[in-house]
Amino acid sequence: MVSHRIALIPGDGIGHEVTPAARHVLDTVGARHGISFAYDEFDWSCARYHETGEMMPADGLDRIRHHDAVFLGAVGDPSVPDHVSLWGLLIPIRRGFRQYVNLRPVKVFEGLPSPVRTALPGEVDLVVVRENVEGEYGEIGGRLHRGFPEEMAVQEAVFTRAGVTRIAEYAFTLAENRRGVLTSATKSNGIVHTMPFWDEVVAEVATSHPDVAWRPEHVDALAAKLVLDPTRFDVIVGSNLFGDILSDLTAAVAGGIGIAPAANLNPERDFPSMFEPVHGSAPDIAGRGVANPLGAIWTAALLLDHLGHAEAAAQVENAIAACLAKSPVRTPDLGGTATTVEFTKTVVEFV
Ligand code: ATP
Ligand code: MG
Repeated sequence: MVSHRIALIPGDGIGHEVTPAARHVLDTVGARHGISFAYDEFDWSCARYHETGEMMPADGLDRIRHHDAVFLGAVGDPSVPDHVSLWGLLIPIRRGFRQYVNLRPVKVFEGLPSPVRTALPGEVDLVVVRENVEGEYGEIGGRLHRGFPEEMAVQEAVFTRAGVTRIAEYAFTLAENRRGVLTSATKSNGIVHTMPFWDEVVAEVATSHPDVAWRPEHVDALAAKLVLDPTRFDVIVGSNLFGDILSDLTAAVAGGIGIAPAANLNPERDFPSMFEPVHGSAPDIAGRGVANPLGAIWTAALLLDHLGHAEAAAQVENAIAACLAKSPVRTPDLGGTATTVEFTKTVVEFV
């Protein structure tokens, strides 16, 4: 029996509804593969912020540093500004634990039509690898002459050789273990300092991965191609901003945010990685028990894979695919009437 300690942060809104679904699946699959999970639950959230003025305690990172993984449901609430929930919880964990890879797999499943005509079931199977800790989302910059006609805003993007090298290295290695095709999102025709640097470093990393067929693509053209023919892509690597945009686009191509999984990975494993579905806290449907659990369940598969249980992970993914292909049970966002609990039970029947 292998056992893992998981730090569980349900967060806000539907985070409380989808986290039990992920846990149910982890426990079910774990039992079949001789893996047991011990969960420590943390109430870090916007609700906690209202009570204490903090999203998480000051020693939050120390409390979860020794867990094998962090599972997060969703954080965010209309009553709390986004920068508070982001900078008070998600960003400290991502940066503090050097989770520099944001991994977002995308698949079009049979039984879940894509809004995009060219995205046929079984033919779209790609992963967006987003740089997660530097790039365009730095805090360097400022505003001058507020309120005057000459008002201006400046925001710097920061790319480091080490940062681009490690994300490219991760993406090329992933491509080697998949279909061997990599696309690097760039914009070196318009952004004349950072993007040519990105291209150079990616090209250098490419020389040690001769089996990967790779090319840079300008992000605007790439976005169009992802809609026109998403089947040609395998691994897509992008900066923090480009990866963010492209992964929302590809999640939409695959049939919705409710099924999209994500992992914030620390590939060196000197700190825990964090697993969180792409969707937010969905305040509009929270508390009704109808949230789609597939994003959280697929995210649980990413957690299994990261902890070295590839077979168990594949079993979860196959259960999602089989459930969508063979069962009419779905939550309202996918056109059904099932509750989160009913849909989760149905997926578990296919495990
Ligand atoms: P955040 O700022 O946290 O990203 P958001 O409002 O931008 O929040 P979501 O919370 O992901 O984004 O919600 C976007 C829309 O998608 C909402 O209408 C929500 O109800 C719907 N949605 C998101 N996740 C799910 C889910 N798991 N099941 C059903 N609907 C969902
Ligand atoms: Mg959002």
